[in-house]
Amino acid sequence: RFVVFEGIDGAGTTTQLRKVASSLKGRGHPLWETREPTDGPVGVFIRECLASGLSLPASVYAYLFAADRDLHVFGEDGVMVRVGRGEIVLCDRYLHSSLAYQSDSDHTRELVEDLNHRFPLPEVVIYLDTPVEECLRRLSSRPQKDLFEQREVLMNVVSRYREVLRAYEAEGGKVLYVDGTQPPDLISREILKFLEGILDI
Ligand code: C5P
Ligand code: MG
Repeated sequence: RFVVFEGIDGAGTTTQLRKVASSLKGRGHPLWETREPTDGPVGVFIRECLASGLSLPASVYAYLFAADRDLHVFGEDGVMVRVGRGEIVLCDRYLHSSLAYQSDSDHTRELVEDLNHRFPLPEVVIYLDTPVEECLRRLSSRPQKDLFEQREVLMNVVSRYREVLRAYEAEGGKVLYVDGTQPPDLISREILKFLEGILDI
């Protein structure tokens, strides 16, 4: 059981993952909350690059994210091992983030697809659909800015998300599109209801 939360910066993925996790925990299921970039060595390095605004080419970020993901998915006590053990893995961003954020040209789009095709697809994607303007408003009250948190960038990311999630659905993936402007408690209730139906929990 592998559930991924996706959305642009400020959409509410982190908040919702926490809320959903805390309510599932009360039910006694073994559960792992995780995120990408991870808290492993490559993920920490990526976060430093993003926070310092280091403008590496998108292709270089694509390699870094794929390296981080390799450790995360195939590493010791990683996603594969835990899913195999029957744990519910809730992940804040995964490969659809790479497909949406790092694909700013045909070249990098192909590269990202090549680097990512061997990673397992999640069972379910929860997509927090929050308009760019609202996300920018939320982000402006946070102390730290990341490299990609700009209007034009986020507009492109939204349209890439739409494409890649449609393709994922066409291959049998399940996506819940949630209106991210609703009150947080309503959103998490909607997500829980959906997961209960799908994951048999
Ligand atoms: O979710 P969070 O804001 O912590 O992620 C850090 C940043 O990493 C995000 O701002 C996002 O722009 C970027 N990111 C990315 N590609 C990924 C995952 C995250 O560009 N695969
Ligand atoms: Mg961010």
